[in-house]
Amino acid sequence: MNIKIDFNKSGGLVPTIVQEYLTNEVLMLGYMNREALSLTLKTNIAHYFSRSKNRIWEKGEESGHVQKIMDIRFDCDRDTLLVIVEQIGKTACHTGAKSCFYRSFFYNGKIDKNLYASNEANLPTKYGKFKVKAYKDGCQEHLAIMSLNFFEIEAPILRIHSECLTGDTLGSLKCDCNNQLHLSLELIAKNGGFVIYHRQEGRNIGLLNKINAYSLQDKGFNTIEANLELGFKEDEREYGAVEFILKDLGVKKVKIITNNPQKIDFLELCGVEIVERIPAITPTNCHNEEYLSTKKNHMGHYL
Ligand SMILES: [Zn+2]
Repeated sequence: MNIKIDFNKSGGLVPTIVQEYLTNEVLMLGYMNREALSLTLKTNIAHYFSRSKNRIWEKGEESGHVQKIMDIRFDCDRDTLLVIVEQIGKTACHTGAKSCFYRSFFYNGKIDKNLYASNEANLPTKYGKFKVKAYKDGCQEHLAIMSLNFFEIEAPILRIHSECLTGDTLGSLKCDCNNQLHLSLELIAKNGGFVIYHRQEGRNIGLLNKINAYSLQDKGFNTIEANLELGFKEDEREYGAVEFILKDLGVKKVKIITNNPQKIDFLELCGVEIVERIPAITPTNCHNEEYLSTKKNHMGHYL
């Protein structure tokens, strides 16, 4: 580990962001001084400086956050250490603080994404043979599903598919996710391309909240009203991980399968050229007509 930190510049303390390695959640914001850093590097156990107690937290203390170090990176722009740890003791952090912290520090792009990528593996499917590569992004894990000729194609077909367990896996008729995913897998198997399976369930409010939103929909709310009623924005998705995956796979040009203008804007912001938009129009049913019309009329989807 080679870390250069100017403690003089930052008043003797460096803010520390801790990311838990095994359970994938961000734990806390802490501080390191020279002593804490030297103990950390010497023992390979994370040590933090407690500003309130004015001393180093010790292992076993009630307020101590003692974890084994997996990696330490320094963010020069923010004078911040990112410490990736494996939890070896009990955590003193509250769940609410975790998710709040995760959102504020990782979802707003202030810090470079630190994603872990798997190796590539073969995945034969009923659509054809694919290669897959997984990415771990904090508490979310994503998947790139690629046709075998993916790397030989100048402008591969791309679907950025947002996870929908109820649609993708259970065949729910409340949305068009299942049809869009299968259309996309068929298209990339036939013509070459890839699907980024973006695991931000329920427009990134998570499964539990999505089901609560469905419960509200049963009472007459539409898909947007239900999210707002639960205290979320109509769309909480964030595409930082997708940008990372596109860069990792060296993608410069795509033919995008989407009806969502936000995904087009996002790709343009990433500097990926869109040579064609392939509409993801699939059959409607009596359960998803209202959902689709809300997407069209309130979210600007091309439907
Ligand atoms: Zn869905």
